Amino acid sequence: MPRAPKRVHQEAKEESAQADQPTQNSASEDIEAFTNKGFKSAIAATKAANAFPQGTARALYLSYPGYARVIEDLTQRVVALIGNVLHSKDIKGDIKKRQMEEQFEMVQECNDLLFERITTNLDIKAGLRRNTQQVVEAQVDVMTSSTSIEPAVAAQKTQGTPKAGSWNRTTGTPQRNMVSTRLFTAKNIIRPQTQFREPVDNSAQNPFVPRLKEKPNSLKPLALLPEYDDAGNVQSYLHPYEFELLKFEPPTEQLQKQKPVLPALMAETELMVVDTVEKLKQALEELRQAPQIAIDVEHHSYRTFMGITCLVQMSTRSKDYIFDTLILRDDMHILNLVLTDPKKLKILHGADLDIEWLQRDLSLYIVNMFDTHRAAKALNMARLSLAYLLKHYLDLDVDKSLQLADWRMRPLPQQLVDYARQDTHFLIYVYERMTNDLLQQQAEPGLLGSVYQQSTDVCKKRYNKPHIGPESHLDLVRKTKRSFDNRQLYALRGIFEWRDATARSEDESYGYVLPNHKMVQIAESSSREMHGILARYNLIPQLLHTLLPIVLKARDQPLVKPILEARSSTQASLPPSTKDFSSKLYCPHDFSHVEEIRDDLPTLLKRSSTTGKLEVAKKEEVAKVDLTLAAPAMALFEKQSKPTPEEEQRWAYLRKESQTLRMPYKRYLAILPLMVQLKADQLARERSELQKRQLCPAAPTVEQNIKLEANAIGKEDDDMYSVPLKEQLKRKHPQANVKTDPDQQPTASKRPRTAESTQTKPPVKIEPVEKVQQATGESDDEVVEVPIERQATEPPKPSPAHNNRKQKKNQFQRGFKAKNRGNHPQSSSQQVPQHQGTGNFDYKNVDFRQFKGGAQRARGTEIKQQIRGKNRPNNRNNKQFNKLFTFSNVRKEGKK
Ligand code: AMP
Ligand code: MN
Ligand code: ZN
Repeated sequence: MPRAPKRVHQEAKEESAQADQPTQNSASEDIEAFTNKGFKSAIAATKAANAFPQGTARALYLSYPGYARVIEDLTQRVVALIGNVLHSKDIKGDIKKRQMEEQFEMVQECNDLLFERITTNLDIKAGLRRNTQQVVEAQVDVMTSSTSIEPAVAAQKTQGTPKAGSWNRTTGTPQRNMVSTRLFTAKNIIRPQTQFREPVDNSAQNPFVPRLKEKPNSLKPLALLPEYDDAGNVQSYLHPYEFELLKFEPPTEQLQKQKPVLPALMAETELMVVDTVEKLKQALEELRQAPQIAIDVEHHSYRTFMGITCLVQMSTRSKDYIFDTLILRDDMHILNLVLTDPKKLKILHGADLDIEWLQRDLSLYIVNMFDTHRAAKALNMARLSLAYLLKHYLDLDVDKSLQLADWRMRPLPQQLVDYARQDTHFLIYVYERMTNDLLQQQAEPGLLGSVYQQSTDVCKKRYNKPHIGPESHLDLVRKTKRSFDNRQLYALRGIFEWRDATARSEDESYGYVLPNHKMVQIAESSSREMHGILARYNLIPQLLHTLLPIVLKARDQPLVKPILEARSSTQASLPPSTKDFSSKLYCPHDFSHVEEIRDDLPTLLKRSSTTGKLEVAKKEEVAKVDLTLAAPAMALFEKQSKPTPEEEQRWAYLRKESQTLRMPYKRYLAILPLMVQLKADQLARERSELQKRQLCPAAPTVEQNIKLEANAIGKEDDDMYSVPLKEQLKRKHPQANVKTDPDQQPTASKRPRTAESTQTKPPVKIEPVEKVQQATGESDDEVVEVPIERQATEPPKPSPAHNNRKQKKNQFQRGFKAKNRGNHPQSSSQQVPQHQGTGNFDYKNVDFRQFKGGAQRARGTEIKQQIRGKNRPNNRNNKQFNKLFTFSNVRKEGKK
């Protein structure tokens, strides 16, 4: 008997060779003596093997042909003996013809096999000794959510417990509810799949193949029609009853008003537990007589990959049936005779998964179904669970806490039998009531028909095996809302694939092999010590051997920045939101559902004592209400005394101002006199420039290099009329600047205009050119971008005539910089509106876009953008105009 699965191979080899002898006469001896004897033999064999020369001594000995021959003979004999053992254990291959390394592997494989058999035998022995099922029961609170193993079912189940204020939870987002449930299972449950006549095929490559052999109630003969994918592989098979479902029309009596018959009490109703083929045949004969059959399915999904249908419950008006589908798995299909009969109504609640389970495990299909869950939806019922329907129509409080029971238990405990029965016992009555309710919905005459249509669509569902794609692990990451780097993703993908393969080969659920959260955490902490992780999650040490290579390989990947940033790290710790922000019903400031909300605060409405209606309270009553305002604990600007009369006057004015709405035309009228002034001023300046040019034709135009200081509006607009020319000329740039910068040459368009105005305008007083040129050095220091007005109002500065070269150079650089920033010095004359006289205002010069309904001041940035470039608009007027032409400024400025 082998000692350990992974012992020294040399020992194992010799040991298994010698182990044959004691097994012959061990039957009569007790197990302990047998083991002791085995150990003794093993030790003796090991000692004998160790006594042989080893290492260099062995090599020396082998150089003697006699010794080598003996050793060779012995080796052949031992290997032959081992070969016999391996052969008896069905290990394939001839060990004598193998290399040394392969020989060891074969022995190891044999040892593993023996150990597995021993463990299984011990388990069976222990199970047999315990004989009766040890039922384990416990009360647990579980969070049900859409992430559970059977999402669709879970979503239905969560709607069971009514909660105040959760009226809108029946649709939309999946909710996480605490459900008090009973853990109801048993120790040493035999895996039902080991008893299946036809083993399950969990493989991902082969699609699910319907196993239907006969097709009762067929309009088209039975045929398995494959569907191919792009690569030409069979992807799935068509629904065997596809055509019949397509042609199905509900019989007229089902579309008429029903006469609901209250079902008898469960205790007074006959129950048939169908667990033999004979009983099944009897049940079928009885069911053939029933016009309606209520059906439900119980399922197990934890210790299996694809799931196992454990129980099918059916109810007619007079009898309940419970089919043990673990036993009758291969025989249940005879019920297709009634289930696919289009004249017989089948009533199910939330049948989506039931339909899939029935066809997968029992080859059962349904034609003519009424789904009470769909009906509840069509009726806009507050809740859609069966428990709610039973409460609504029968005032029954059913206990759904056993929904997570282990339905593989056999014999089925009485509690589970009763529980399973109630799922179908009342369903025919519920159907009758719902049919009448649906017919009563006058507004929607086709409602009943649409429920049948939807139910028939559910019947068309086909079972598909679970499959994972190369991106499946990313869905998981998205769900966890954590950020993973590429190494972690690599590890997760590896673990994900390993889990998928393991679950399929071992026929276990993903959740059993390695639950999602553990998988994610292992992949996440891939840089940490694996042993620690396994210890933390209480995982079996064998997992280390499996997962370690995956994680180590992931660590070899070059690290790149986090790929899936579902959320920032601070948010990662927050629980996932259950709010459907896209829902029209989501209203973040609606606190009406919160208990702490106060509705006793004083309002202007009061309830009339006579009519009871809400009315606006009379003025006197409002005044009487004592609204004591709590003083703030801390004031930022504490007022020491009462406001002064000036302050009060000012506030009153401001209040009034802020409440007065002036229409754009009123504002335009108000600004009109000011605009006239501005225009006149502009004209005056233009004329003076012209004068100057006439006097000194070779000199560069004034506007070319004028730079203006950054102050918006002149203090005294009146001053602008009398702007002395010297003020403007003072700002003229030195000639050097003009010469070196070709961009600053006056544009062709400017000249004719100024020339034109020359003839019309009277001469203005000018200053000598020399003085102007002297002044050029200083005036534009640090000036970049400015409104034009200021130059006119600024008092003349005495400017020392620094003419040294350094200064000129600085100036040039500054001018160049300014130019590069897009601040082209421009002619002021360009902006003068081309009209004469003071009465006519040129609307073309008003930028009405700036008004913004009078609510907003024109912003500096907007103006800046406008004045840039060659084609800048009439900025001077606009700017000032806009400044003044605002909601709050108009009056004050206009008055001046
Ligand atoms: P029912 O239609 O309520 O009898 O449920 C049918 C089967 O769905 C049960 O046997 C369970 O296997 C499964 N099931 C029911 N509720 C849940 C749930 N909350 N989570 C996961 N599976 C469930
Ligand atoms: Mn069900
Ligand atoms: Zn059920």
